[in-house]
Amino acid sequence: MTHALSCETINSARFDTLGLIPELLKRVTELEYLIPTPIQSECIPLVLKGGDLLAGANTGSGKTAAFALPLLQSLHMHPQSTSKGNVVRALVLVPTRELAQQIAASFKRYAQGLMPRVKVEAVFGGVSANTQMLALRGGADVLVATPGRLLDLLSSNAITLSQVSHLVLDEADRMLSLGFTDELGEILALLPKSKQTLLFSATFPEEVKALTDALLTTPVEVLLQSQEQSTLHQQVYTVNKNRKTALLAHLIKEQHWRQVLVFASAKNTCNRLEQKLAKAGVSAQVFHGDKAQGARNRVLDGFKNGEISVLIATDIAARGIDIDKLPVVINYELPRSPVDYMHRIGRSGRAGEAGLALSLISHDEYQHFNLIEKKNKFTLEREQVLGFEADAEAPVDCPSRESKSMAAPEGMGKKKRKKLPKANADLWGKKP
Ligand code: AMP
Repeated sequence: MTHALSCETINSARFDTLGLIPELLKRVTELEYLIPTPIQSECIPLVLKGGDLLAGANTGSGKTAAFALPLLQSLHMHPQSTSKGNVVRALVLVPTRELAQQIAASFKRYAQGLMPRVKVEAVFGGVSANTQMLALRGGADVLVATPGRLLDLLSSNAITLSQVSHLVLDEADRMLSLGFTDELGEILALLPKSKQTLLFSATFPEEVKALTDALLTTPVEVLLQSQEQSTLHQQVYTVNKNRKTALLAHLIKEQHWRQVLVFASAKNTCNRLEQKLAKAGVSAQVFHGDKAQGARNRVLDGFKNGEISVLIATDIAARGIDIDKLPVVINYELPRSPVDYMHRIGRSGRAGEAGLALSLISHDEYQHFNLIEKKNKFTLEREQVLGFEADAEAPVDCPSRESKSMAAPEGMGKKKRKKLPKANADLWGKKP
């Protein structure tokens, strides 16, 4: 039976009413988390009880602590009695390398001061597997992993998943839409049948619903929505396509934004935009899948600590990445899917901070933006910037969006593209 908690649940909880042990309460206070976010006050007691959970919460809602704190408590309260071997006790699967690092860092932050120590490791592609293998000697209490690298490490017997007692799938919708289905199926087949499974997803497309039925046993559902609406202001400017870059440069300079995340649809567009902005006197860096992992980390760190003020990214930056107090997100080009729009804008206005999400749309994107509005149930006034007004009709050389909207997401090989619509629960092996 599924028990659903509605988004109207009142958040009157304090951290010390959620059942957390004093060591974790102390840590939360040290981190200056004054009150739990709604997802935390709902999830922490439920996860501590040990059952399965299906949680839907907007990005930036404090999801990580909602599962990390109670999991750390369970692991701490039930230390491993036998010799560890290369055993993993809690496995957190995530879709991107950056998210793996970010979530592992959060676990480590929350676990500071716990005795005996809770060992947290992250494994993800793009960097040497040897270092990760060495780190995994003696196993890990918490392993945060992207599916591909985890499978590599499993095939070289660096770890075993046979004693995993807690499984978390974060950004579950993304993991499915990126065609991870087969990889996830392989991993899930290696896990024990009896375990606690927590599934977090900001959105619930059909594929995720099929997955929840296959993976979760009488889960409690916690569905909290639309937190960003109160702190995130959305705007849309119409502009001729050939004036878009000039408008972007103008806005960045005029508004003196200290930190802007600009989304473009493809790696090439990111690179070209960086060059064009440089010519217009705006220094920017790019962040996309063609960059080596070391460079990706450096650019992201530089952006987070303020050394880089304009970051141009593809949708690999749209999910989960937490940039403290990011004031502005700009859609230089719209994402293909309305769901991705919500993820992109969710980079700003996180944890109650004020934020601005601005979309620059030209004639070929008008229709697609209408669809994004319709699917996400909001409507924005079309605005113009003086000197950059869109013509009433598209200029004659304006290309159609059609061909782009039919393309598969970047970074996905042909093999995976073909699999896209096929994510279904049969691949996952139902729980008995
Ligand atoms: P997340 O959604 O887990 O990525 O968290 C978004 C941001 O909110 C992170 O910077 C967290 O450190 C922060 N955060 C999480 N929980 C709280 C809380 N209860 N109070 C203040 N900040 C929080």
